[in-house]
Formats: sequence, structure tokens, C-alpha cells
Amino acid sequence: QAKANQAQYATFQIGDDKPYQRKLQIAAALPNAIEQGQFFLVYQPQIALSTESVYGVEALIRWIHPELGFISPMEFIPLAEQSGEIFKLTHWVVDEAIRQAAEWHQQGLTLRMSVNLSAADLSDEALDSRILHAMSAAQLKPQLLLVEVTESAVMQDPKTAIQTLQRLRKAGVGVAVDDYGTGYSSLEQLRQLPADELKIDRTFIKDLPTSTDDQIIVASTIKLAHRLGLSVVAEGVEDYAGLVELIERKCDIIQGYYFSKPLAAADLTAWVERTDI
Ligand code: C2E
Ligand code: CA
Ligand code: CA
Ligand code: CA
Repeated sequence: QAKANQAQYATFQIGDDKPYQRKLQIAAALPNAIEQGQFFLVYQPQIALSTESVYGVEALIRWIHPELGFISPMEFIPLAEQSGEIFKLTHWVVDEAIRQAAEWHQQGLTLRMSVNLSAADLSDEALDSRILHAMSAAQLKPQLLLVEVTESAVMQDPKTAIQTLQRLRKAGVGVAVDDYGTGYSSLEQLRQLPADELKIDRTFIKDLPTSTDDQIIVASTIKLAHRLGLSVVAEGVEDYAGLVELIERKCDIIQGYYFSKPLAAADLTAWVERTDI
């Protein structure tokens, strides 16, 4: 026993720590990845139940690295936050999402575009003016853009974050509370957030047809959100039974694999054309 442990200690070096090495490699690759065109956006449709039509899309970032292959945003976004690269990355996401929304708009397809912001972005003084400038340069109404933020991101520096969100909302840009119900969350906090929309996290949606607990949570969340004047998006709706539950509970917007996974821009337009909801 003791001998085995000793052998383990003897061979363990930083260089052998694969996850750590991968983190270093990803963090080192981030700065050049934008310039080298390794990032692209995919778009997941959001369906409004009242009109049974595509209301908007959420832009989600993708990275295919020449050596490491596909890297999930769940892996590289936290590293970009730690290294400070997130500011450049979010600027790229915002510019690209607005460029794409304008291209679709010119083709006669007008969709609201949602982009995800990180905690650090909410203290980026340059962000809101950049967003508004890009929207006006693209001749898009600010109402066609929405930013998604989590409550925990806002709580890292609530005063600055709330000011940034208020400036964006005043200009007409929408604000959604993402991943609602997970992590740091309170009613008092929700009341103070300058928001237009609440996105119920997938953890409450995935077992909705069979879990009475989740049914109660989702029903009361929708009622509360509506009383606060927020519209409600359900995330991660994968099956028809879940959709039916959400229709009964007066959810406003549905997003999830049941309708479509996130799609490349060209596939999104083809999907909109052929889909009859
Ligand atoms: P999120 O903002 O909560 O995005 C929703 C995630 O759920 C996406 O994963 C989406 O592909 C996935 N999803 C959608 N429908 C379903 C479904 O029916 N079932 C299941 N199982 N999953 C579904 P993705 O694209 O891997 O993104 C993961 C997270 O990475 C996002 O979670 C967001 O927090 C972050 N992220 C993605 N793109 C960006 C970005 O451009 N900027 C920032 N700051 N974060 C981003
Ligand atoms: Ca999101
Ligand atoms: Ca989410
Ligand atoms: Ca998330």
C-alpha cells in the first residue's frame, strides 16, 4: 500500500497533469484564435407560442482549433474570463451577431438576436456604446437585440452591472435573465434586475412531464415573471410532452432540440423556410 502511494508521488509532476496542460494550451491559443478566424456563431431558433412563429435566435459561439478540434464554450469561456480575453471575444460575438442579423433583415428575415454576456462584460465601459453603434451602423433597431446575463454574473459587481444593463435597456436593447433558478437567486434580486425576459433553466424543463415538483416550480415561476412584466423563455425543451406542459402553463417562448439544435447561419434560413410550427 505505502509503496504504491510512493510510486504515485514519485511520478506525479505538473507536466503530467493533463487537464491543467490542456487549460494552459487553450488559454495560450485564445488570443490568436479571433484573428485566425477560428470562431464562428451558430443560431438556435426561439419560437413564440402566441404567434407560432420564429421569434428570434440565440447566438452561441463555436471554436474549432486546428490541433485540439472542437472546444466547448463551457470549457473556453471560463478560461477567457480568467485571462481577460473575454472582452475581445464578446466584442467579436456582438459584431458578428449584429452583422448576421442585418444580413437576414436585408433578405426579409427579421429576427431578434440574443447574445450571451459574461460577468466581466458587465463592467466593460466600452460595451454598450459599441453595441449601440454597431446596431445603428447596421440600420437595425436596438429592439432587435437582446443580451443574456445570469444573476450570478450581475452579482459579481451589481452596481456597475445594473448601470450597464440600464443604459442598454434605455436605448431599447432587451435584457434576459439566463439560467434562471440555478445558483445565486432570490426574489429581491430579481426585482432589482433591469430585465425584460426570464429564461427558465433546462434543469427544471428536462423532467417536466413526469416531475410534479418541476411542474409546480415552472408554473409559479411563469406566474411570478408575468406579474413582474417579464416574458418567459423555456430552455432545453426536447420533447412534445414538455412542450405541452409549457403551453398549458402559458410560457411565451420555447427554445430547445424539440424545434431545433443551434444551426449554422445558412442552415437557419433553410430551417425557417421549411418549418411549419
Ligand atoms: P446557455 O447560454 O445556457 O446556452 C444554452 C446551451 O444549451 C447551449 O449550449 C445550447 O446548445 C444548449 N441547448 C439548447 N437546447 C438544448 C436542448 O434541448 N437540450 C440540451 N441538452 N441542450 C440544449 P452551448 O452552445 O454548448 O453553450 C454552453 C454555454 O456556453 C452557454 O449556455 C453559455 O453559458 C456559454 N456560451 C455559449 N456561447 C457564448 C458566447 O458567445 N458568449 C458567452 N459569454 N458565453 C457563451
Ligand atoms: Ca444563454
Ligand atoms: Ca441558459
Ligand atoms: Ca448556461
